[in-house]
Amino acid sequence: MTSEEAAQLRQEWTEAGNKPCRHLVLFAEYRLESTMLTGNYVCASCGSIKKMMPRLLIRWSLLLASWLQEIGRARPDREHS
Ligand SMILES: [Zn+2]
Repeated sequence: MTSEEAAQLRQEWTEAGNKPCRHLVLFAEYRLESTMLTGNYVCASCGSIKKMMPRLLIRWSLLLASWLQEIGRARPDREHS
């Protein structure tokens, strides 16, 4: 999908009531003039652009999430204050 098509989709989606979208189907975005991929993905329903995170960053955010969960579990019971 080109950036222009994505912009068109976004406009149509907004005019149709701008409903919440779960972005179930994503297409790789590319530039029409160069046919080069931009590295982003466009939702096929609403045209919203998703920036793809590098794999390392995804791994780190997963680690951070599990770490935060551990902290939440280790927190002392606050019922007896
Ligand atoms: Zn969407």
